[in-house]
This record gives sequence, structure tokens and C-alpha cells, in this order.
Amino acid sequence: MIMEGERHLELSGLEVLRVSKESNFVNIGERTNVTGSRKFLNLIKEGDFEKGIEIAREQVEGGAQILDVNMDEAMIDGKEAMVTILNLLAAEPDIARIPFMIDSSKWEIIEAGLKCLQGKGIVNSISLKGGEDEFLRQAKLVKKYGAAVVVMAFDEKGQADTFERRIEVCQRSYHLLTETVGFPAWEIIFDPNIFPVGTGIDEHRRYALDFFRATEWIKQNLPYALVSGGVSNVSFSFRGNNSVREAMHSAFLYHAIKHGMDMGIVNPSMLEVYDEIPKELLELVEDVLLDRRDDSTERLMEYASRVKGETKTRVEDLSWRETDVAGRLSHALVKGIGEYIEEDTEQALKELGKPLSVIEGPLMDGMNIVGDLFGSGKMFLPQVVKSARVMKRAVAFLEPYMELEKQQSGTASQSDKKVLMATVKGDVHDIGKNIVGIVLACNNYQIIDLGVMVPMEKILDEAQRIDAGIIGLSGLITPSLDEMVNIAKEMEHRKMKTPLLIGGATTSRIHTAVKIDPHYSGPVIHVLDASKSVPVASRLFSQTERINVLKQYKAEYELMREQHRDRIEAKEFLTLTQARENAFKSDWPSVHIQAPVKLGLQVLKDYPIREIRQYIDWTPFFQTWMLRGKFPEILKDDHVGEEAQKLYDDANQMLDQIERQKLLKANAVFGIYKANSKQDDVLMDVGGEEVRFHFLRQQGKKASAPNFCLADFIAPVESGLTDYMGLFAVTAGLDIERSIELYRKENDDYKEIMIKALADRLAEAFAEMLHRKVRTEYWAYDRNEDLSNEDMIHEKYRGIRPAPGYPACPDHLEKDALFKVLNATENAGIALTESRAMFPASSVSGYYFAHPGSKYFGLGKIGKDQVEDYAGRKNMSVKEVEQWMESNLAYSI
Ligand code: SAH
Repeated sequence: MIMEGERHLELSGLEVLRVSKESNFVNIGERTNVTGSRKFLNLIKEGDFEKGIEIAREQVEGGAQILDVNMDEAMIDGKEAMVTILNLLAAEPDIARIPFMIDSSKWEIIEAGLKCLQGKGIVNSISLKGGEDEFLRQAKLVKKYGAAVVVMAFDEKGQADTFERRIEVCQRSYHLLTETVGFPAWEIIFDPNIFPVGTGIDEHRRYALDFFRATEWIKQNLPYALVSGGVSNVSFSFRGNNSVREAMHSAFLYHAIKHGMDMGIVNPSMLEVYDEIPKELLELVEDVLLDRRDDSTERLMEYASRVKGETKTRVEDLSWRETDVAGRLSHALVKGIGEYIEEDTEQALKELGKPLSVIEGPLMDGMNIVGDLFGSGKMFLPQVVKSARVMKRAVAFLEPYMELEKQQSGTASQSDKKVLMATVKGDVHDIGKNIVGIVLACNNYQIIDLGVMVPMEKILDEAQRIDAGIIGLSGLITPSLDEMVNIAKEMEHRKMKTPLLIGGATTSRIHTAVKIDPHYSGPVIHVLDASKSVPVASRLFSQTERINVLKQYKAEYELMREQHRDRIEAKEFLTLTQARENAFKSDWPSVHIQAPVKLGLQVLKDYPIREIRQYIDWTPFFQTWMLRGKFPEILKDDHVGEEAQKLYDDANQMLDQIERQKLLKANAVFGIYKANSKQDDVLMDVGGEEVRFHFLRQQGKKASAPNFCLADFIAPVESGLTDYMGLFAVTAGLDIERSIELYRKENDDYKEIMIKALADRLAEAFAEMLHRKVRTEYWAYDRNEDLSNEDMIHEKYRGIRPAPGYPACPDHLEKDALFKVLNATENAGIALTESRAMFPASSVSGYYFAHPGSKYFGLGKIGKDQVEDYAGRKNMSVKEVEQWMESNLAYSI
């Protein structure tokens, strides 16, 4: 319930597919490919799918944005293995949030895979190799399943290996797909073949160059189509010499991306930072890639045999203090150095005379550099936030002078590009929104942030009053989606034209297309993260581009709606009765039920942060700061390691301070109670009073797995057994407002985001710690558990702690009963908003299940029969249930 952008099955894959010029390169993970990874192959051969899943998880944590899955091996039943692994992966919310690429040379495997995909998928690949009829047949099926497709540059004559052949095959495929099949162009991904260069064979000399040219040609001539490829192939002839290979990969990528390559299979550990490739090597490598000399291969070979790994050193210097004042300001901004900012700003004011000239001159120039470096991936978010902090301090220094000027002249212009942002009514989380605000502010937008829990009227009145150029809405929990729909309707009603940007963890491109966009005739655009907001905003503020943006997104969303309909229609569902027949079944008498050491409610007030912080899962912390990679490896990462280490040091320093000065207070309340299931409900005995919890059951048709419902993990009333269920609520965000207020006064965005991110981490850590204590001490069904922090993060223990609002139990309203039993507001200081978001935002609540077979799953979509049944059980109207559960409905309302 904490991290934005994580663990949500609904996050559609489409965001990463739309990667034209607006965004960064998309990295496809390939370790779950039996032809590419011996380790994975052996695991699958031995039937150890569990470990296979771990490999997938490592890929996602390591920054893969798409997961390539390939089971093509003679010794494996590819079809069965594909289905098994995809079903297992789909049940892992933290893996299933990225799209899967079904990779096979056998069509039957692809089709079997397509049938079990839950979200947006990608087929890898189809081609004209087997003729036009077969190509069209397969393409139509891919379209029916709503997947995107990789098209190899391959036809009846063979693989395309020249520029001319590449464009000939891609063009023909494109026209067949778009015209004959009606395939959406932005879901076509061309793989124009990356072949090895530097082989010594003359025909191979232009392979890379022709790939670049073909890529550029595709991007210019085949509108919306994307380009991908397997990068490591290019350096095949330099196997054994990693420094040369790494340089080749980055140089290749550098040029390919410049020519428009959108995504690719890249092994991040085999990549040098382009700017850090030694000059001599870079020249030799580029000679080969760009075919610049006749002897380029020999020269690179010669270098390869001569050079082994070299070490790099860096010296710090203060020579920048000797440049002119504009140069100093720009340096301070880019490097985020605040030490001299006031004195430099003062001097700039003396030289330029007007405070506004300082802001619009050297300060904005500096921030533009920051914006560009961030946009091109050369600066990372923590650095940008530090730059913004320096900028704010400079502006704060100039403010009194501007006031003075305003009094004298009556005006002081500010940026006219106004973006109004708000977290919607009922929702409290705002780290992501803060970050978007900072990044936009760095790009010379004026941000008006109305904060959290903002009612619709306030957002729209204010937007109209100040004439905002863009309205940005943010939300973390599913009921917020509904509120966004209301706002879109009201904007239409008010005849507004202001573009509406949608962002936040539960929002998705597909939801935006299906639910929000149809209600508003102005532009509605889903923005995946801060880095994507800048290009979108800049297009929206450009008079000429704006109309194109509107057309483009309206058309795209229209198509997505159609596909969405087809996809839902294609998916098979069971009736509720059938689903119940296929429930997860336990042989109850033999399931070990352990009576807890202590029944009933327990409260932990003001729990020591020192103990909680040991349980922090750091990987999501780096994600919040948009640094991708798994902890602790990320600290040593070639690309982001240095920044990650600095950020980690700052975080620990702040944790020390939180501990010492008691900046945050952590409370918990939990209880274990007697309970039995009654069909899909759980009846809990709370001191003699019966409290009923309502759960939902999966209805998607499955090959072999059960249709899970959390109630299956509790012994049914009919068994005659006494079973137990636990409840908990923890928070680590109490008192955070005090610090936030202080940091705001000091214009310190960096610390504000830092403490919010840490409070979130501490809340999750507290939940982890408490769960462990419950397993080993309070319920004590696993007294001898001995797990490392890493094992706990990977949930290797017995039992689960699902949280209402999350995939297994997405109904937020169930928090009402949970909070009532725990009296969580009084006992822990956590309140619920009208949308049932928890406040403070850094809070976690959920159930404890001890059943050895209990596991997390995603509910998926449910049918009307279950909605009616559920409404009856909860004593609500069907309409109400439909409103709260809209994202989980298998039908439209
Ligand atoms: N270690 C991670 C845990 C994040 S998941 C972190 O520190 O961020 C957060 C919580 O979501 C889990 O502890 C569990 O309570 C809940 N959760 C995860 N998957 C779920 C699912 N499929 N259904 C319900 N709750 C789930």
C-alpha cells in the first residue's frame, strides 16, 4: 500500500510499449530464456519452476521492463512449460506488473502462452518466413488476443541482411499488418536483425550501419512502429574480451537509440557507460560499427589483444569557482551544490540589475541543462531534486527584491506555463506527485500543487481561476480512479479544454483509455512517471503540437478500448458456482492448526525505530527515487552505483536523525482470533461477538490451478475444527507533518521526499517485523523460523499477510471491519479517509493467514453473478459494489 508504481496487476504493459521519442529506451530481460540462460534451462529441466520465478524476480528488480520468456528446447515440453511458468508468474504481483514477451519459434507455444496472459503481452515473433497466408493468420490471432507483436525481418527468401532487404521486408510486413489485418501500428515492433560485425568477412562490414539506417528508415516511414533487437549479437566475434564487448554494446546502443531504436535485449552487466569508454577504444569501436575504415577490424583486434581492464580515477577540484558568475550558478545547479548559491546569486543580481533577469537568465539556463541531462538519462532523480533545492534557495534569495519591484512597477512575470496538480479526494499519497512537480519545475513550468485529498470543486475552480495550462491528477488507491472519472465528467460539463494528465500507482493507460478518456473531449493523457511528464507537457504547451497530441491520444485510446473489449470477450470465465467447485482444497484434519500463545488484541505504542529499520527492504526505496536495480548490488552498479550509494548514505543519516530526535512515531495494533470460513466469508469470534469478513474468488478459467479465495485458507465451519485468523495495522508516519513543515520552510524538497520515502519504508519494515514476531512469538506456529532479511523479503516463511486493496482482496471497504475490531484509529492513530485510504499515508494493514499452503494471488476479473452474491453477503446494493470494485469487473457498467 506504500510504494507508488509497484505491485499492481492492473498496471498495463502498454506504457512501456509506447516508447517513441517521448521516453527512454526500454530494457527487455532475457534470463528467463532457456536458449540464452543455461541456469534457467537446468531449472526448468528439473521442474524447479519456483527457482525459475526467482530469476524472473531478479530481472524485474534489476530493472527489466519487459520479460522475455522462452521455452524452446528439445528436452522440454515447450507448450506445457510455457503455460506453467506464465501462470506462476501471473500470480506474482511484483513480477506481473511488467509485460511478458512470449518468445518461441513454434506457433503452438505462442498461442498456448497467449491464452494465459492476464495483461498486455508481446509475441516474439512472427515473420513472412512461411509466406503471407501463415503470416496473416498468426497476426490476426495475435490481434484477437490483444498482444503486441515482434516482427522479424525475415521473408520467404530468408533473413534480411542489407539495408534494402531490411526495409523491403519491414515495409511489406507493415502494410499487411496495418491494412489487411488492421493491426495497431504502435504495437508492431520490428526486429531488423542485429548481426555480428568485426568478423573479418567483407559482407559483414555494413551490418551495424545498415541496422541503424534501417531503424531510422522504419521510424520515418512506418508511422508509430517500434524497433527492437538483441544487442549482444553485435560483439559476437570478440567473445572473451569483455571490455571490448561492453564498449561495443554501449556504442551500438548509443547510435541505435539515436536512430530511433526503442527497446532491446541488453544484459546491463555487459554495458559500459558511453561517456566513459576510453577515447581510443571508442574510436576503434565506432570505426567498426560505422564501417569508417577498411582496416577497422584489424585495428580493433589489435587493441583487444593489447589492452586489459584499466582502472579509472577521479579528482575533485574547485576550479569552477574561478569561472564567471553565470558559469558558477550553472555549475552549482547541475551539481546540486548549495554552499555558495546566495553569494553567487547576489553577484548576478548586481551584474544584471533585475531579479527576474537572474531567474530567467543564468538560473533558468542552468536548470535547462539539468532538464536536458535528466531527459537524456545522464542525470538521476536524486541529483535533480538536489538541483531543484539549489534553485529554490536562489529564488528565495531573490524574492524580497521581486516584491520590491512588484510594488514599484506592479508586475513581476512568472512562467506562463502553469501546471496545477492535486491528489484527489479521499487519497493521501503524494511522493510521485511531488517528484513530477519538481521535474516539471526544473523545466520551467510553474507548479501549483494543491496537496492531497483535494475535492473536485477546488481543483477545477482553482484551475479556471488561474487559467492552468494543464491539470495533473494523482491517486494511489483504486477508489481514486472513480474520482478521476467524476472530474473528467465535470470538466466536460464546464466546457473546459484544459488537458488532463493522469498519474499514480493504480492508474494505468488502459484505465485512462477505457474509463476516463470517453468522458472528456479535451486531451486526457496517462503519464507513467516523472521523466515522461516533461515531453508530454512541452507538447501540450506548444500551439502547433497540441492539436496533434489530442488527435494522437484520442485515436490511440479509442483503439485500446476496442482491443480491451475483444480481450475481455476472448477470456474465459467460470460461473461462481464452478469457481467454488474448483476452490483451493485442504485435507483439513491433517493441516496443522496451531492455537496462538495469546488470543485477542495487542498494542505496541511508540515502537523503537532502531529495531524496525533493520527490516527495511531497500529495493523499493531506490525505485521511489527512480534508480533501478536490486539492493545491495545497486550500490556497485556501473551506471547508477555512485548516486545510489550517496542516496543510501543520506537515507541512513536521516534514519539516525529520526531515531535520535524522534521525528517519526511508530505504532502497531494486532490480534489473533478464532475464525472459521463459511463459503467465501470468514466468521471471526471477537470476544463472543461474530465479525464477518468477505472475500472474493478468482473466476478466470485455469488449466489446472485452483480458483483461489482467501477464505480457502481457513478451516470451514463444517470441519468442526477451531481455526484462527489474525489482523494487523501498523504505521510509521505519525508526526511526519512537523518535519515536512520545517523542510518546506527551508525549501528542502530533497529532505521532504526523503522523509516521506523513509516513513513508507519503515511502515513496510514494521509490518515485516511484526509478522515475524507473530509467527515466532505471538501465534508461534513457526517458533524455529530462522530467516535472513532477504529471505523474508522474498516471503520464504509460512503464512501470508494480505492487505485489503491489494490484488488478493481488492475491496478497500473491508478495512472498515478490520479497523473496527482492532480499534486501529484509537490504538494506533491511523484514520481512514472516505475512499478508505489510510492516514498517515505510511501505514499498512491486513490479515494474517497461517495455512502452510496460503499464498498471494491476484483476484483478476469477476462476473456479475459474484458481484450479486457479494452484494447480498455485504448487504450492499449491486450498484454500490460495482462502483467500488469497478477495476475488477469482467463486464462494463
Ligand atoms: N517488502 C516489500 C513488501 C511490499 S508488498 C516492501 O517493503 O515494500 C506490501 C504488502 O502488500 C505485503 O506485505 C502484503 O501485505 C501485501 N500484498 C502483497 N501482495 C499481495 C496480494 N497479492 N494480495 C494482497 N496483499 C498483498
